[in-house]
Amino acid sequence: MSDVGRVIVNTGNGKGKTTAALGTVFRALGHGHKVCIVQFLKGQGQYGERLMAEKIDSLDWFICGRGFVFKKKNIDDDRKVAREGFLLAREKIESDKYDLIVLDEITYLPHYNFLDVEEIVELILKKPQRLSVIMTGREADPKLIQIADTVSSIESIKHGYEQGIKAQKGIEF
Ligand code: ATP
Ligand code: MG
Repeated sequence: MSDVGRVIVNTGNGKGKTTAALGTVFRALGHGHKVCIVQFLKGQGQYGERLMAEKIDSLDWFICGRGFVFKKKNIDDDRKVAREGFLLAREKIESDKYDLIVLDEITYLPHYNFLDVEEIVELILKKPQRLSVIMTGREADPKLIQIADTVSSIESIKHGYEQGIKAQKGIEF
């Protein structure tokens, strides 16, 4: 437990950013670590990972978004939801209750100008020392990349979606 926590970014256009974070969550849970996931932008659908999370005591899961993409006509609502999500993430990080926190799809907050990237940077820089943080999402801001110790960009070679394969239970959700 005396390890210094990591700052990891999973970005790029290919499939696997969130699921790679979930793989690390699985790994951490196996060691008895306490894990928190805060999801930005996700709808309230029946995601398999969330159904599974309900069965795991040492995993706390929070959802802040209202769908995939911010809609322009509701821009003030979206900004409010984004801010609420950020404040929740901040509370969880500062609580020092966790060994690992995943901020899923957080890269979109600065990308859509819903949040100043400096607010995220500041939060990460003063996180509890033992805490590891994984941030996911496309278009990761250079400042997030700079403060991370490990950054992976997942390239899309092809995706079933482009061949008309619909989002599939157990694979996409
Ligand atoms: P996953 O959750 O499968 O690891 P991801 O986190 O890398 O995907 P997101 O950008 O969060 O990808 O995409 C949200 C959804 O879109 C996921 O269900 C994902 O499988 C799907 N997806 C990812 N990449 C592509 C792509 N290149 N084309 C179409 N759909 C994609
Ligand atoms: Mg994702």
